[in-house]
Amino acid sequence: MNAPLPAEVLKQHLIDPEICIRCNTCEETCPIKAITHDSNNYVVDPEICNGCMACVPPCPTGAIDNWRLMVRAEAYGVQEQLGWEELPGEKALPETAAAAPAGGEPDAQQPVAPAPSTAPGATVPPWSAAHPYVNLYTHKTPMTATVVGNYRVTGADTESDIHHIVLDFGDLPFPVLEGQSIGILPPGVDAQGRAHHARQYSLASPRDGERAGYNNLSLTVKRVTEDHAGAAAHGVCSNYLCDLAKNDKVQVIGPFGHTFLMPNHPRANLIMICTGTGSAPMRAMTERYRRRIETGENGRLLLFFGARTERELPYFGPLMKLPRDFIDINLALSREAGQPKRYVQDLIRDRAGVVRELLADRNTCIYVCGLKGMEVGVLDALRDVTMQAGQDWSILHDALRREGRLHFETY
Ligand code: NAP
Repeated sequence: MNAPLPAEVLKQHLIDPEICIRCNTCEETCPIKAITHDSNNYVVDPEICNGCMACVPPCPTGAIDNWRLMVRAEAYGVQEQLGWEELPGEKALPETAAAAPAGGEPDAQQPVAPAPSTAPGATVPPWSAAHPYVNLYTHKTPMTATVVGNYRVTGADTESDIHHIVLDFGDLPFPVLEGQSIGILPPGVDAQGRAHHARQYSLASPRDGERAGYNNLSLTVKRVTEDHAGAAAHGVCSNYLCDLAKNDKVQVIGPFGHTFLMPNHPRANLIMICTGTGSAPMRAMTERYRRRIETGENGRLLLFFGARTERELPYFGPLMKLPRDFIDINLALSREAGQPKRYVQDLIRDRAGVVRELLADRNTCIYVCGLKGMEVGVLDALRDVTMQAGQDWSILHDALRREGRLHFETY
């Protein structure tokens, strides 16, 4: 057992600004609001952090898992950390501070047992997920990819300008799994003159490439022209990506993500729930299954896909060509003329019978990706269909999280 640290010594929790992709997962996960951010960095407040580790497993890059033994009075403060471009090196403790006091009480601010997760989804992958590689390429050592395709996958006359972008890695290794993401480093600098930080995009292609057997992958990118509140906003990276031409070079980091992964065992079922470009990982997983149809080992695929209109639903054409006995497709259209507004959670309730049947099977994993706002609605719908059958949702929800069978990726 580790000896308690002297009271004046703190095991300070820090986030590596060179690896962090500013995805906000840690801030959302922290049960005691010890993590904060500005336009530069995500940082941990040493006055609040109790080392509970709740934020560590969900971090897709591992940037969160940095610790320094510090004299408490000299701990790095929030303001100082916000200005960092890189982590400071390790400092030796003064000998007086390094010696543990005899019979010292455990320090309340030293790492404690993991806090019960407050996250809506699992922080572990499904038991049979393949081993993911993460952080092979970093801000300091990015990979240069070549654009080999860039085309629009939504109706030309609609506001949603969504692109399918294919990046090729040539001879260099870039091993990925469905559900993982990569970071794109847009060229140029921000208003403060600093290089733009990386933007994260989920893979839309399966592990063996957008084109099977090729060393490439695809992304689904929506050109951002307004913020979530509808005010005009220019998305730095999305506009850069949507404007790329064939043979352009792109700086890539990653891959990231070690939990939002698909099961790898025969007859595993997938319930996929997505909105808009959140369809990227669902396309990757569906394509993985499609390429394996002939093995006869596939489980069932149930898709709930939300978009404003049919013409704004990315990949509508190819999706509708998939055989009905391969995938059960449920489209929730919210702004289709002459039709009532429908969200994915409405369709989950409409299909309560099949959802319950799949939930009862421990080979079923659930993936939710897209708008942040859908999280609550989807959880409520899953709770309702469970409780309608007289079952206890809280027991099932706990089991789904514990067994890595319920995953969220929402922004
Ligand atoms: P969007 O077009 O704005 O919306 C898609 C659909 O979701 C619309 O029908 C919308 O209905 C509906 N919706 C809105 N609020 C909802 C709620 N509370 N519950 C359920 N449905 C709701 O979507 P988008 O602009 O493509 O956004 C996709 C999101 O996915 C973004 O936040 C993006 O960051 C995230 N994402 C993207 C990737 C990627 O790799 N590109 C990966 C992971 C996540 P209304 O008509 O009411 O608006």
